[in-house]
Amino acid sequence: MFIAGNWKLHKGPQEADTLATALKRALADETAVDIAVAPPFISIPAVVDRLKHTGILVAGQDVHPEIKGAFTSAVSSEMLKDAGCAYTLVGHSERRSIFGDDDAVVNAKVHAAFRAGLLPILCCGETLPQREAGQAVEVVTRQLAAGLAGLAADQVVSTTIAYEPVWAIGTGVTASPDQAQEMHAAIRSWLAANFPAFVPTQTRIQYGGSVKPGNARELLSQPDIDGALVGGASLDADSFLAIVRAGA
Ligand code: PEP
Repeated sequence: MFIAGNWKLHKGPQEADTLATALKRALADETAVDIAVAPPFISIPAVVDRLKHTGILVAGQDVHPEIKGAFTSAVSSEMLKDAGCAYTLVGHSERRSIFGDDDAVVNAKVHAAFRAGLLPILCCGETLPQREAGQAVEVVTRQLAAGLAGLAADQVVSTTIAYEPVWAIGTGVTASPDQAQEMHAAIRSWLAANFPAFVPTQTRIQYGGSVKPGNARELLSQPDIDGALVGGASLDADSFLAIVRAGA
């Protein structure tokens, strides 16, 4: 079980330290669940420092494909690794829709993560019109085929897939446990059809999209749901803790 919190554009260094301190107090000894938090870049050093010697790992929210150069405002995977991150999100729907990350860029970022020794959390998910048109599985598997292109099987296993239906992110509308399970099973079947047999059994697939303390347990009890990527509810220590405990 792997629960990750995406803090998005929230929590500057001081607020991030306060939240990390609360998580450290409550979760330092949590071993049943793998936990990561993704603060904004500027808050990563404070959070890494606060969470050192705990099992809570730190993730970037995004990464630039290049190592260095004239890419104003960008942060490379090597820089995230140097700052103490273990993971990075890649291909979050807000990166895709607001910042224009297409599948080729997402794939370059996945490779950049591995180049630096970071583990990618690769986000995928369909929009509501795509779901209503019956294209959800096709869209998600196309995103995965492109995002995972060129990886060795052991790298695919080291990639966490976060299925996040776009219509459920930040909307308060959650996929029903059945809807989520159906897509997670489809993703696992797609992995089975495209990679060696150990890949579908060992690859973790998180669900994301308005996960809250009140719905986490039922979602996380589905057979193909291996964790959650949590946005809004990860900004409050108590609600994030409740979600982690639901997965324990
Ligand atoms: C997310 O940003 O990845 C997310 C799932 O957000 P929320 O939990 O707020 O829907």
